[in-house]
Amino acid sequence: MAATGDAQPAKHQEVGHKSLLQSDALYQYILETSVYPREPESMKELREVTAKHPWNLMTTSADEGQFLNLLLKLINAKNTMEIGVYTGYSLLSTALALPEDGKILALDINRENYEIGLPIIEKAGVAHKIDFREGPALPLLDQMVDDVTFHGSFDFIFVDADKDNYLNYHKRLIDLVKIGGVIGYDNTLWNGSLVAPPDAPLRKYVRYYRDFVLELNKALAADSRVEICQLPVGDGITLCRRIS
Ligand code: SAM
Ligand code: CA
Repeated sequence: MAATGDAQPAKHQEVGHKSLLQSDALYQYILETSVYPREPESMKELREVTAKHPWNLMTTSADEGQFLNLLLKLINAKNTMEIGVYTGYSLLSTALALPEDGKILALDINRENYEIGLPIIEKAGVAHKIDFREGPALPLLDQMVDDVTFHGSFDFIFVDADKDNYLNYHKRLIDLVKIGGVIGYDNTLWNGSLVAPPDAPLRKYVRYYRDFVLELNKALAADSRVEICQLPVGDGITLCRRIS
C-alpha cells in the first residue's frame, strides 16, 4: 500500500516487491562472493586494463558480464551480434560462452579501444569467433536488412552503443534476430535518472539520453512482437525475446 503522510515512505510499494539490492555494500558482496571468484582470468585482466582507461565508465560491469555469459549458454547461442564494443569486456564474456564455431559480429565506430582488449581476447583463444567492423552500426544494419539471408539469423544481439539510436536499431534488429532469439538492450535504467525529478542535477550526457531511454522503454513494453523482461543488473538490461 502507498504510504501517505509517513515521514519515511515505504521504499518499495508494489505487492510482492522483494528487491534485495538495498546498498552498495550488498552489491560489493555479490561481486566478492559470486562474481570475482568465478571470473575467468582473461576477463579479470581485461577489467583491470580497462579500469586504467579514461572512459572506463563505459565498460560492462563484472556481474553483468557473468550474467551475459550464462545467458548465452542457457539459450545455446551460436550466431550473435554486439553493437558497442569499447575495450571488449561484454564481447569477451560472449566469446567465452559461445561454442568453438560460434560467431559474433561486433560493431563499433572506434577500433582503437577494441585494440586495447584484443591481445587479451587473442590470448584467451576466442578471437577467431569475432568479426569486428569499424563504423556506425546503422548503415550496416540497413544493408543486412536488405539482404534476406540475414533475416532471422541471429540467436542473440547485445545493444550497448548510442542510446539515441536504440529505437532505430530495434526497427532493424527485429528482422535480424530469429523467432525465439533474444535482443538485450543495455543501460535501460540509465543511471537511475528515469525517475529523477525534472530539476535533479544530472550530468549533461545523462540528461541528453534520458528521454531516448524513456521512449525506448515505453516502446518495448508496447511491442507485441517481443516478450520482455527488464532486469536491474548493471545499469539495467532489457531482454526481448522475439515471438513473431
Ligand atoms: N559493451 C562495451 C563493454 O562491455 O565494454 C561497452 C560499450 S560503450 C558503453 C559504447 C560504445 O558504443 C563505444 O565504444 C562507442 O564507440 C560505440 N558507439 C557509439 N556510437 C556508435 C554507433 N553509431 N555505431 C557503433 N558503435 C557506436
Ligand atoms: Ca552498457
